Amino acid sequence: MNIFYNEKKCNKCGKRLKTEQQMGKTGESSMITIEIPWGYFSEKDGEIHKIVLCEDCYDIWIRSFQIPVEIREDVELL
Ligand SMILES: [Zn+2]
Repeated sequence: MNIFYNEKKCNKCGKRLKTEQQMGKTGESSMITIEIPWGYFSEKDGEIHKIVLCEDCYDIWIRSFQIPVEIREDVELL
């Protein structure tokens, strides 16, 4: 079953996201793509789940975390 989408839309809010080609390299940071290869001991054994989130939804999502995300400087951008 193919559940991956060609057009990138935020899974949470459904907003259509510009692709890297449309925005150039800087556009990559405005969305995140998460691919989760569920392992043998999970209930989703063998499934790969893919999530696309826009930056707004990412911010809302991480605010719900009990433990904040680890943030470090990207030294290659400095
Ligand atoms: Zn969103």
